[in-house]
Amino acid sequence: MTMEHSEVCCVNVAVHVRPLIGDEKLQGCKDCVTVVSGKPQVQIGSHSFTFDHVYGSSGTPSAAMFDECVAPLVDGLFQGYNATVLAYGQTGSGKTYTMGTACKEGSLIGIIPQAMAALFDKIEKLKNQVEFQLRVSFIEILKEEVRDLLDPAAAAVGKVENGNGHTGKLSVPGKPPVQIREASNGVITLAGSTEVHVTTQKEMVACLEQGSLSRATGSTNMNSQSSRSHAIFTITLEQMRKADPIMALDGIPIEEMGEDYLCAKLHLVDLAGSERAKRTGSDGLRFKEGVHINRGLLALGNVISALGDEKKRKEGAHVPYRDSKLTRLLQDSLGGNSKTVMIACISPADINAEETLNTLKYANRAR
Ligand code: ADP
Ligand code: MG
Repeated sequence: MTMEHSEVCCVNVAVHVRPLIGDEKLQGCKDCVTVVSGKPQVQIGSHSFTFDHVYGSSGTPSAAMFDECVAPLVDGLFQGYNATVLAYGQTGSGKTYTMGTACKEGSLIGIIPQAMAALFDKIEKLKNQVEFQLRVSFIEILKEEVRDLLDPAAAAVGKVENGNGHTGKLSVPGKPPVQIREASNGVITLAGSTEVHVTTQKEMVACLEQGSLSRATGSTNMNSQSSRSHAIFTITLEQMRKADPIMALDGIPIEEMGEDYLCAKLHLVDLAGSERAKRTGSDGLRFKEGVHINRGLLALGNVISALGDEKKRKEGAHVPYRDSKLTRLLQDSLGGNSKTVMIACISPADINAEETLNTLKYANRAR
């Protein structure tokens, strides 16, 4: 590991401001978010925040987001560094649009499809020197339960239940729930979730589509489910260097590659709607959901702020990964040598000002 990787802290924070959408325009909403020209700075009311990057709504165009924030993480995978991209924000702020989690056929909108394209580009360039294996998984965390979105049976169950109008079950009857395990070397694995071996970009896109569909049909009320759950698409890249490699691999000196075998993963996370983090209904079920969503987003905020606090880190302070399934699952890909990007998604509409301010405060705490 080079000094640079172990010393640089770890969370890059970007803000993505979406444009006013049709519904907001119909309601006569005004744009209440100002992006300061030439600076990664956002103003709302009397508040002003500076981040690593600000995109959209008269800031840097969104097209630059992948290149600046995510491409370096894809490159890092080839050097063995785990990485996480997190989309945070209230429901309707553009998380799914930004991540591309609800992949539309043939479209390359969103970070996940672009990450796939960049990954396969690089593999194509290196395949004479290196043997690659790729696996993907796609899971959802709802009410502190992990659901496998690539399980074909789960999708079928979701459809039947929708048809009958019953509330969707989280898991297939008889199938043990997915378990998060930590190996003695600190590597986190998911026991009982489907991992699909893929060799082409097309196969990888098919997994994204299948999982998105399963996510949407797993409940009778798809909007509420997808806003309450964290969806995590994970790409694992294994590399074996072939014998007699040529001098340099795509500009990476051989010595820096370290070992002959490397394995790294990229988590692409479409987080639950942040508005749930503070809502505490008193009626049974909703309260439980509120509390549990709270747990993931609260724990994530605490983990990221512990990682970002250099003084605390040097003192070897406790990082509270174990406080939620979400942070537990991301444990080996947040902090340490891993690279993390948080993209805070916001609506510019004045009716959302309060939630937007909450999002900016949360993101600000992550820096
Ligand atoms: P979330 O996943 O945070 O609930 P969505 O990604 O579903 O939000 O976005 C809400 C709506 O806003 C969708 O209709 C989406 O197409 C639109 N939208 C989001 N971001 C953008 C953007 N950058 N440009 C144009 N439309 C967007
Ligand atoms: Mg969404």
